[in-house]
Amino acid sequence: MFLKYKPTWMVEAIYQITPEHCHSLGIKAILTDLDNTLIAWDNPNGTDELRHWLEGMQAAGIPVMVVSNNSHDRVAAALNFLDLEFIPRALKPFTKGINQGVERLGLTKEEVIMVGDQLMTDIKASNTAGVRSVLVKPVVATDSWKTQFNRFMERKIMRYLQSKHPDMIWQGELK
Ligand SMILES: [Mg+2]
Repeated sequence: MFLKYKPTWMVEAIYQITPEHCHSLGIKAILTDLDNTLIAWDNPNGTDELRHWLEGMQAAGIPVMVVSNNSHDRVAAALNFLDLEFIPRALKPFTKGINQGVERLGLTKEEVIMVGDQLMTDIKASNTAGVRSVLVKPVVATDSWKTQFNRFMERKIMRYLQSKHPDMIWQGELK
């Protein structure tokens, strides 16, 4: 039960995913959620850490593409300063956006990972699509009211999964 919510990896932040890990795991591109994975939901300014991470991936030839449930205009505004490709209205937990991302990248599902901060949207969509998933901790602890309800449910799912899968612990890297 709930296996669709079980992430392949759990790392504290997206910055812990390095080009070296990607190369050794056969990962050629990264799909990622936007809000609270790349940027804070209430403060859409990228940090220097984010820019530095993106530059590292770019230098390594690993594209990073945003897959967000938000509207085109909202995502475009948030990414204005980052020059990243994105897929809006991704309909996570459904697979539409992730499938579109994989197709646009011209890669196989085995060559791509999906990173996100929510089990019920990002991780479920990724697992259902057959793409390896990476759960990260939310960038900020507070959320919009809608996400707060999901977080309540997520804590329950997380407790259940961790009771069944003791290997589900936060790691410092993908391995
Ligand atoms: Mg999010």
